[in-house]
Amino acid sequence: MKKPGSRKFMLLPMMLFFAPQFFMVIILVGLFGGGSAGGIIVTSSFLAEEEDINSAYIYYTSLEIGLIEDIINTDIGGFNEVFIYLNGSRLSSTQLRNRRQQWLPTENATEVMWSISAPLRSQITHNPFRLMAYLTAAHEDFVYPYIRSTIQELFSEQYYLATDYQAEERYIVEERTGYYTDYYGYYQTYVYYYTFEYVWTSLFINLTVNNKDEIILERLNIAAAALGYYSEEGDYYDNDLVEHFRIIMYFHGHVHFVGTPFDFYWLPFVSSHFGYRLNPFSRQRQLHNGVDIALPEGTPILAAHDGEVVTSGYSPSFGNWIVIEEDDGENTIRTLYAHLHERFVFVGDIVSESDIIGTVGTTGASTGNHLHFEVILNGRHFNPVFFAYIPLPYEYEYDYYDYE
Ligand SMILES: [Zn+2]
Repeated sequence: MKKPGSRKFMLLPMMLFFAPQFFMVIILVGLFGGGSAGGIIVTSSFLAEEEDINSAYIYYTSLEIGLIEDIINTDIGGFNEVFIYLNGSRLSSTQLRNRRQQWLPTENATEVMWSISAPLRSQITHNPFRLMAYLTAAHEDFVYPYIRSTIQELFSEQYYLATDYQAEERYIVEERTGYYTDYYGYYQTYVYYYTFEYVWTSLFINLTVNNKDEIILERLNIAAAALGYYSEEGDYYDNDLVEHFRIIMYFHGHVHFVGTPFDFYWLPFVSSHFGYRLNPFSRQRQLHNGVDIALPEGTPILAAHDGEVVTSGYSPSFGNWIVIEEDDGENTIRTLYAHLHERFVFVGDIVSESDIIGTVGTTGASTGNHLHFEVILNGRHFNPVFFAYIPLPYEYEYDYYDYE
């Protein structure tokens, strides 16, 4: 286990090994712009405390869930039709009432909104590193309560939900058949036209999702300009804050206190991130304590750190699950692995980091093959994509403009 407090010091030998030239970017800038504005510390690591990183991230996911709740709880009761737009383009629509104002769907309004907003909800996602890279570049070792409003601002610049409605007078001309009795007592028919007038009401829900990098780069440029660091040309790449943001995005923040559960770049396989999400059945918000990594059945799972197996069993929710614990007298770290196909270790076993402990499966309450992976430090859950190591897909090179 890497003790939480020691990570900043472990960074230096790591970078020496991988990229000697990277030392060039560890610079203390404060030499220009008047000097009194303070310096920019450019590192490849997040600088805030673990608790602050985790709380900032969880808060951000709660804002995302709040937006999703706003969408699915939209009051659609009086409308004939609802249209869902993303950045001004129509994604979906549904008719709720007919022209005689009879309610069409059998489901309740929330269910209707849940189903028609699916393509829109899928746009409310995040790159978990983007927020932390921004906060680190702009606020260095931020303290969570003080940057809450910054996160709110950033969020409202990234997402804007607007509703609009329209009432339109419409009419329909119906051909009808009338009857009468003629002079001789016979029934006769005739055709006449009946004009049915009605008001048709439409609700338009438009979510604007701004390009998240552009907003961040703009904010960083404004911050740099305020500090006197804005380049004459206005070129993003000359800006040290932007440079810092890109370096952290490229190196993923370097704040792991355990190793990796897989020996490859597993980030692209994350199917559900740590943080708040809506339970797809109850529609209630819940904290997802781990990360779901969707991989084929049988993919070997590695112990993320040295330790003792304290759980190896089967439960209806976790299926086959394993917990590994390591205690150095000061900190207790546990990692939890769930929904396994096979378990290779048992309670009391001592394992070393990178030992194969089982394989990916879909046992317990699971809808597909994946590893549910948790990182728990002193009883508190931390986001595994920040606090477990992720092998990077690229060689360490001074080429961090291409970080996705
Ligand atoms: Zn999970």
